[in-house]
Amino acid sequence: MNKQLLLKNGQVLIGREFVAADLRIEDGRIEGIFPRENGEVSLRRDWHSGNAVATDIVHATPRAAERSAATFVGAAHEIDLNGARVIPGFIDIHTHGGFGVDFNQADGNDLQKVMAFFASQGVTAFLPTVMTDEPDAIARQLERIAQVAHAQNMAHSASVPCPRILGIHLEGPFLAESHRGAHPAYLLRPCDLGLFDELQCAAGGMIRIVTLSPELEGAIPFTRALAARGVRVSIGHSGASYEVAMAAIHAGANSATHIMNAMKLMHMHDPAILTAVLESDIYAEMICDGIHLHPAIVRFLIKAKGLDHMIAVTDSIMATGLSDGRYSIGGTEVIVEGGDAKLASNGMRAGSTLTMIGALRNLQVFSGRGIEELSRLVSENPAHMLGIDGDTGSIELGKRADLVALGAGDVLEMTMAGGQIAYLLQKRLFSKSYG
Ligand SMILES: [Zn+2]
Repeated sequence: MNKQLLLKNGQVLIGREFVAADLRIEDGRIEGIFPRENGEVSLRRDWHSGNAVATDIVHATPRAAERSAATFVGAAHEIDLNGARVIPGFIDIHTHGGFGVDFNQADGNDLQKVMAFFASQGVTAFLPTVMTDEPDAIARQLERIAQVAHAQNMAHSASVPCPRILGIHLEGPFLAESHRGAHPAYLLRPCDLGLFDELQCAAGGMIRIVTLSPELEGAIPFTRALAARGVRVSIGHSGASYEVAMAAIHAGANSATHIMNAMKLMHMHDPAILTAVLESDIYAEMICDGIHLHPAIVRFLIKAKGLDHMIAVTDSIMATGLSDGRYSIGGTEVIVEGGDAKLASNGMRAGSTLTMIGALRNLQVFSGRGIEELSRLVSENPAHMLGIDGDTGSIELGKRADLVALGAGDVLEMTMAGGQIAYLLQKRLFSKSYG
């Protein structure tokens, strides 16, 4: 593993604008940001000498500034980005799998396979989403995923660079039958804190988000109890009234699961859960595949909730990255036609075949906005929703080097997770190593 790395000649998204800059990565974190003027890093000498630098975006952490120029040049590995745009890596908080892998069935090898696929789609961190199943089966999957996640946290140079498992999103079984979508009715359960604690125990504490229906009996105190345990509650798969949804939000729910999909819509005399989600300041996931939401609805949602409260998710299933055909989600048969996934039994829509880079491309087309604005929907907002925005989700000094490089036409050229290259489109980039 290269402990030091220089990413040269990027157009780096700093705050809300692209700046021509070099990035210095050390031990997996962004340790220096050096803007270029007329193609030159004019202030590097200042940084090398350890002097304070003049502008507010030229930075090096005190630790990096202490080092001599010799140390830097001697040990650095360089990548010439050749003008590629560098944006924060994508964080997918709702995915059921991809590339033939279903998180309700996956073993350790499957997880490695799907993580490599996610890296090729710009994902640097994600929450495998385990859906409704028998409690024993859920517990088994939570254990398996937690094992891989713990191994990730322990491993250093020996491991294959890949996106980080931030935790697990448990979608169900605490869901309302009326809006169950692809979740089998006979496996749905009432809110049960004892069961949740058992599952959290199996997960080694890694359940980080729970999607639940707020209209279930006892859902409000259940929400309060989960929030008190530091778990994010996302309301969805729901036909709740406005009042009940608001009660859940006041009890600590901080997000809504795939807004409008499997959710009661608004009516002028029955505002329902949708209005509560829109009116409150909670986050809302949206599936921007052009199938789950009309492009005009995507534009409207961004306008209504603001760029800071929408989170683009994939809700992807195992068919993602593969061709149309027959697949499954949580053991239930799914038919994918034209990228649209539906249950074989009743034609009910069952997840998507969207990727995160696909979501970002669609967002640009649907909203007419640029990546400068939309990047936060795929990176910063999910990080903030999870409370890890101090560590990742934007390009700032001291944060993890979770980065994506986009070439002309938004071609994904590189994914870097924690300072390690998890995906590289070789022909586009020039890389050289010293010493
Ligand atoms: Zn889902």
